[in-house]
Amino acid sequence: MADNVQVSIVIPVYNEEKNLPVLRDRLLPVMQGSGKSFEIIFIDDGSSDNSLVILQEFTRNEHIKVVELTRNYGQHAAIMAGFSVCCGNVVVTMDADLQNPPEEIPKLIKVMEEGNYDVVGTIRKGRQDSFFRILPSKIINMVARKITGVGMHDWGCMLRAYRREVVERMIQCHEHATFIPALATVFGKRICEIEVNHEERHGGKSNYPLRKLVNLQFDLVASFSDFPIKLIMYGGIGLSFLGVCFGIVLAVARLAYGAVWAADGVFTLFAILFVFVGLQFFALGVLGEYIGRIYLEVRKRPEYVIEDIYSAKGKE
Ligand code: UDP
Ligand code: MG
Repeated sequence: MADNVQVSIVIPVYNEEKNLPVLRDRLLPVMQGSGKSFEIIFIDDGSSDNSLVILQEFTRNEHIKVVELTRNYGQHAAIMAGFSVCCGNVVVTMDADLQNPPEEIPKLIKVMEEGNYDVVGTIRKGRQDSFFRILPSKIINMVARKITGVGMHDWGCMLRAYRREVVERMIQCHEHATFIPALATVFGKRICEIEVNHEERHGGKSNYPLRKLVNLQFDLVASFSDFPIKLIMYGGIGLSFLGVCFGIVLAVARLAYGAVWAADGVFTLFAILFVFVGLQFFALGVLGEYIGRIYLEVRKRPEYVIEDIYSAKGKE
């Protein structure tokens, strides 16, 4: 591997055996044609299929390095592990499923160099995902814009370029529940966004069932702001005030129309009660999300553990 690496490509891999050969065959020519010295770092995030074996084969190529994690730590922890071993001046992250076309990478690097940016984000043009994926992501993008104060439009697209300094600072943050594109905005000042193509997943299926997706969005929101807690607090105050007003209205109506009317209103009260009980549970759930994350942090377990690193020189 070249001593002075200009560009590192960091790719987390979790059960992507169907995509890896095609990814390599498209990525290598793009990088070779870019005229930059480069390295490609694949992180095997505890895959249970043949991905690791395929990746180990790849390391015959001097540009490719493979980091094997001891188990599945999640996409963002895997990228962090990749950051910890990469040495390029510009670090590009991307998915292994070819939803981010490798052909877009030179564009990212060019924009970063010409504009002297710290972070180059991307907006997925013609996004190839289902409506049920796109709608929540629109909402979450809006929330992320609010809480980070950075006007980026597409936080979910992982095809991004970061300057070395930003990556170094991100590695210093030993956070479990993290969302890298948002974390980068804490350290990068000059940020821009460009449009990139988006393709359908090449093979296999998404590793994000709804449960994991919701959890990741909570990482994004909860790791960067206490906005949901505040929202609940103010919402709670507003709701109690409304409750008191309701009580007064009901009391007045009872006095005016008598007890028979009030008894008939019992079900309405139940309905209102259910709404409040529901809200309380919701509030508890949100608090739980935060407490769960605090619990993860105080245990001080490592965010990821590297089992082995493979390169053309063999096991390191
Ligand atoms: N990934 C990972 N660990 C996980 C889940 C996903 O390293 O626990 C990787 C996966 O191999 C892919 C990227 O993260 O390279 C994005 O995952 P996926 O395509 O499943 O997400 P989606 O595109 O559906 O949001
Ligand atoms: Mg994908």
